[in-house]
Amino acid sequence: MKAIVAGAGIAGLVTARQLGLAGWDVELLEKSRAPRSDGYMMDFFGPGVEASERIGLYPRLAASAYQIESADYVDAAGRRTCSIDYGQFSRLAGGKVLSLLRPDIERAALSALGDVPEGRVRLSYWTRVLRAWTDDGGAHVAVDGAPEDVLTADVLVGADGIHSVVRAALFGPDTDCLRLLGMRAAAFIVTDPALNARFRNRFILTDTIDRMAGLYSLRNDEVAAFLVYRAPRDGSVPELQAVRERLRAEFAGATEAVDRLLELCPEHPYDDVVAQVVLPCWQKQRAVLVGDAAGAVSLLAGQGGSLAIAGAALLGDILGPVNASDQINSALARFDKEWRPVVEVAQASGRRAAASFLPRNRAQRLLRRWIIRGTRLPGIDRLVARQILRTIAK
Ligand SMILES: Cc1cc2nc3c(=O)[nH]c(=O)nc-3n(C[C@H](O)[C@H](O)[C@H](O)COP(=O)(O)OP(=O)(O)OC[C@H]3O[C@@H](n4cnc5c(N)ncnc54)[C@H](O)[C@@H]3O)c2cc1C
Repeated sequence: MKAIVAGAGIAGLVTARQLGLAGWDVELLEKSRAPRSDGYMMDFFGPGVEASERIGLYPRLAASAYQIESADYVDAAGRRTCSIDYGQFSRLAGGKVLSLLRPDIERAALSALGDVPEGRVRLSYWTRVLRAWTDDGGAHVAVDGAPEDVLTADVLVGADGIHSVVRAALFGPDTDCLRLLGMRAAAFIVTDPALNARFRNRFILTDTIDRMAGLYSLRNDEVAAFLVYRAPRDGSVPELQAVRERLRAEFAGATEAVDRLLELCPEHPYDDVVAQVVLPCWQKQRAVLVGDAAGAVSLLAGQGGSLAIAGAALLGDILGPVNASDQINSALARFDKEWRPVVEVAQASGRRAAASFLPRNRAQRLLRRWIIRGTRLPGIDRLVARQILRTIAK
């Protein structure tokens, strides 16, 4: 059996590996020239933990994890206003939370492709899927080239992220599938030994209204930054304004460390809408979506990387044993049925978090400080605090 997987992000790499291990031939197509190095620190918990243990990826992930002790909110002068204890967070999540840089998860999944017998998975970078269609004869994609090449397989897996081309071709345009959450997020990594030395082992988060910058020191004198800010409901940004200039304008004066980060910000950092993907169906004749392409939960749910791995592992479990074309559609339907409830729970949590993630005024900011401070009192945990915050934010 043969599969085409569009997109070699976390979901695409894991899907390709699991199908390759099950004996499938896989064409894995990725538009970037090489693994993407842009990224931010993620809390890896939830379904991806069990899935990555089951498929043997967990030790590779744990090997690149960072040790975080706390997340400290700071005011414009850099003074701590409140702090979240990561040990407590980890205990509440069952003791298994890894702090991982997104590109490190991707690298771990890439290195795990080495477990597949040689030649089973062909990974082609700098190969963009332009169009996709399916018919009784198979699933087809056109990729860039001169002239366009057309590839055919038994199944097409769209693992090409939140703005999926496969989804647009087979399931509907972004305008029908994206639920915008009224924010944008940017992320980039800079090299600055002095900043790096100041913030080891803790997240720094600005205690700001309508925007938040986060930073974390990496190995090798680097600092990872992520920035979340309000955007119009349609996610639009002023035309002709370069991303870096927009970020500098949005975050001017947040703290001196953020000003420094923005001085060093690359010209084209990652910057995208904060959104979820909502679709009534993730599969149709010989085609299926996985990862963010199917059901992005947004950074607010904090589980995108985890769900990308768990969803891809489940797809591999269900599709892997299929060895005849007439079994494909029922396998894809089973995947949709089993995976959908997990994604819907995470999406609901992301939507609730959207209401209180960026305080809209001083009162909401003060409330957040009290709640976070309250989590350090005996008997009051973050889950209770989150519940209170949700109730008041309604
Ligand atoms: C600021 C921020 C913070 C986040 N924090 C967390 C967190 O704390 N915890 C967490 O778990 N998740 C977090 N996430 C979410 C997480 O990054 C994603 O949910 C996860 O990476 C999904 O993986 P994916 O493989 O489905 O999609 P992607 O990572 O988007 O991969 C899609 C791949 O497809 C490729 N591609 C796209 N179009 C084409 C095409 N036409 N042809 C060929 N290739 C194509 C892309 O280049 C890319 O490599 C965060 C996200 C953001 C933005």
